[in-house]
Amino acid sequence: MQHPRVTVLGAGIVGASIAYHLARQGAQVTVLEQATPGSGVTGHSFAWINPHGEFPSAARALREQALTDYRRLQQELPRLRIGWSGALCYYDTDPAPAAAQPPGNARQWLERERIAELEPNLQPVPEHARFAPGEGSLDPLATTLRLLEGARAHGARVLTQTPVLELQVQDRQVIGVATAAGVYHADHLVLAAGCGTPALLASLGIELPLHASPSILLRLDAPRGLVKTLVSNSQLEVREASDGSLLAAEDYIATEGPAGPEAVAQQALASIRQAFRGAEAVTLRSVEVGQRPMPDDQLPIIGPLSAHPGLYLAVMHAGVTLAPTVGRLVSQELLQGHRCAELAPCRPARFGL
Ligand SMILES: Cc1cc2nc3c(=O)[nH]c(=O)nc-3n(C[C@H](O)[C@H](O)[C@H](O)COP(=O)(O)OP(=O)(O)OC[C@H]3O[C@@H](n4cnc5c(N)ncnc54)[C@H](O)[C@@H]3O)c2cc1C
Repeated sequence: MQHPRVTVLGAGIVGASIAYHLARQGAQVTVLEQATPGSGVTGHSFAWINPHGEFPSAARALREQALTDYRRLQQELPRLRIGWSGALCYYDTDPAPAAAQPPGNARQWLERERIAELEPNLQPVPEHARFAPGEGSLDPLATTLRLLEGARAHGARVLTQTPVLELQVQDRQVIGVATAAGVYHADHLVLAAGCGTPALLASLGIELPLHASPSILLRLDAPRGLVKTLVSNSQLEVREASDGSLLAAEDYIATEGPAGPEAVAQQALASIRQAFRGAEAVTLRSVEVGQRPMPDDQLPIIGPLSAHPGLYLAVMHAGVTLAPTVGRLVSQELLQGHRCAELAPCRPARFGL
C-alpha cells in the first residue's frame, strides 16, 4: 500500500509525533482526540528531554536517539523551540566522582567552581555535580501543536472533541473506530491514548498491564534568569519555562493532607527559595497533578497486537523524551514493514499480547 489510511488515536505528544512522521512519509493520517491537543498528561509535563535518567536499561537504545531526533525535528519544523540549557544533576546517593572521565560521556563530573559559573544563584554550591550539556527541555503543549501543524502540512486531518467510543473489529482484524460522528475506517489504527488506552482495549477483552502514575507539576512566578540550566537534585527538579516562570516536578505521595499535592508544593517552594540566591520573591502560581501512562514494567509498549491485525500500540512513560524517536520508528514499521531493532524490548508480545 503506497498511501495507507492510518488513524492515530490521541493527540498528546506521542500521537502528534507519530502522526507527523506518518504524514511526512505519505500516509493518509487522521488524528482523533477526545478533547484538545496536549490536554492529557502532556500538558502537565516537566518536559525534560532526559535520555540519561534512571530507566530500564532495555530502553536505552531508544532513549539514546532522543537528542539527535529532536535536533532533526528542529531542522524539519522551523519555530520548534527547545531550550538546550543542559542539565545539572547531583543527588545524595551519588557515587564519588570518577577521577577519569571517559571521553564522550554524556554527563561529565564538574567541580564547584564550574558549577557556580553555570548556576551563579545556587546556594550552597555542591562539591560535585554531573552536567549533561546536550540535554534540554521544551514547552510540551507548543511542541505537540507544532507537530500537528507539521502533520497537517502533509495532509493529515486532526479532529478534536472527538472521543473514540469503541474499536471496530471484523474477524479479529481492527478496521476502524466508532465515534459519535460516525465510523472512521483505517488500514492501521495506532493507539496513542495514554491512560485512556486500557479502556479502549478492554472492549477486545485485552487487559493492558499499564497504570496511571500521578506526578506533580508546579508553576512558579520568579525573577527571570534565576535558574539557568535544568537543576535536578535530591530535593527538587526545576527549570525556567519559555515565559520566564519556573517549573518544578515533584513526586506524588497522597491525595491530601501533609503529603498531598498542596503540602508537597509548599515544601518545594521552600526548597527553591532556599536553594537559589534571590529566590525570596518566588511565588506559587499553580499546582497540577498529571497521570502518567506507566507500563507495569516501566518499558514502553510499542508494536502490533498479534491477535488483532491492524492494531498498533504506542503507550509509554517519558513520552516527551521518546516522542520524536518513537514517531520516526513507528512510521518506518507501519509504512515500510520494517521491524526496528530498537523497539524489540518494547513489544506487547512480552505480556502475551
Ligand atoms: C509532572 C510530570 C512531569 C513529567 N516530566 C517528564 C519529563 O521530564 N520528561 C519526559 O519525557 N516525560 C515526563 N513526563 C511524562 C510525559 O509527560 C508523558 O510520558 C507524555 O506526555 C505522554 O504522552 P502521551 O501522548 O502518550 O499521553 P497523553 O498526553 O495523555 O495523550 C493521550 C491523548 O489521548 C486522548 N484520548 C484518550 N482516550 C481517548 C479516546 N477514547 N478518544 C479520543 N482521544 C482519547 C487524551 O485526551 C490525550 O490527549 C512527566 C509527566 C508529569 C505528569
